[in-house]
Amino acid sequence: MKITKIECIPITVPYTRARQIRGQPVPGSQNVLVKVHTDEGITGIGETGACAISYTGDSAESIIGFVAAVAPKLLIGQDPLNIEKLVAGMDAGAKYSNQAMAVIDCCLHDIAGKKLGVPVYQLLGGLSNATIELSWVLGYGTFLTPEDVAERSAQLLAAGYRAIKLKVGRGTVEEDIANVKAIRDTVGDRLRLGIDANGTWDYFDALHALRKMEKYDILMCEQPVPWREIDNLARLRQKVGIPICADESATELAHVLRLIERDAVDALFIKLAKVGGMVQAQKWVAIAKAAGLPVMCGCMVGTGLETAWQAHFIAASEWMGHIEQENLGVLIIHDQLETVKEPITDDLVREIPRVENGIMYAPGGPGLGVTLNDELVEKFRTRGKPAVVIGG
Ligand SMILES: [Mg+2]
Repeated sequence: MKITKIECIPITVPYTRARQIRGQPVPGSQNVLVKVHTDEGITGIGETGACAISYTGDSAESIIGFVAAVAPKLLIGQDPLNIEKLVAGMDAGAKYSNQAMAVIDCCLHDIAGKKLGVPVYQLLGGLSNATIELSWVLGYGTFLTPEDVAERSAQLLAAGYRAIKLKVGRGTVEEDIANVKAIRDTVGDRLRLGIDANGTWDYFDALHALRKMEKYDILMCEQPVPWREIDNLARLRQKVGIPICADESATELAHVLRLIERDAVDALFIKLAKVGGMVQAQKWVAIAKAAGLPVMCGCMVGTGLETAWQAHFIAASEWMGHIEQENLGVLIIHDQLETVKEPITDDLVREIPRVENGIMYAPGGPGLGVTLNDELVEKFRTRGKPAVVIGG
């Protein structure tokens, strides 16, 4: 089998509930849909959210630009089943290319699963986690009051969730503490509660905030200080009683090694888009496991397509079953806490990973187990940004 053509399609997926980021309205999730075509008529599909240039450093344009630059030499004409070889070629061929590499990795796994007639999780070692416990994120892209977080945490508890994570660092430390207190006052110890500062605190603010929050039984604090400040993560670990987790600081395999060598973290946070796809993620998680660090997987706010991709990875990785996961993209877009009572029918793909009582299930069926809703692909195309096609 050979890769003949690659299509990169910018899409804007509307949010059911209007969102704001830093006070500005967001029209929808700015994502890239990729199709990898082969000479056997099998097409692999993948999607990645381009919603956070501050997170991965990538935009829809840079992702598409990378694919267009490397595909003629490294992908077109190649056997798509040689996934590790193709990913290694892209990794060696361009610096800082993880998000584009990841969406190609997704398409290649979809092709391999379809060709062999098995779900992607089977290609990755089989079904270790038939059920995936989810953790919900509160305050993504919006500033929440104590009343907001109290109401939302009660809804999540009633919907069967057992863990939540609160975004902090958007307001003052005192406002963050008030939100943490409001959650604990509402749900007691019936939900595990983590926080994520996305590197917005400086070291001194982080020290102050975390010392004040110690009494609220915080599961862990993700990225309290900016991503480059590895030594400050290590210093915080020595001074506060809340476990420290790295997200933005942990992109490359070498970053994970360095965090472990400096004894800087108690846990790690991964996204397939951040680390370069499933082939890279398996190595990444193996390093974390060797150090005994649990790994939580987040999302780039993709549709059911991105959510299915990550569900396969989490389902296949035994180590990922040791902590709750945040693979929530399709739920955030459609503003739903589950997919059974209220089936999602207006997504980029027809088959949405099942979520019920705070538990996610990876789709069955060959490949990713999802098919594109072509009508909605057309509807979601980003106006003024044409698709880029390589090969033909
Ligand atoms: Mg994070």
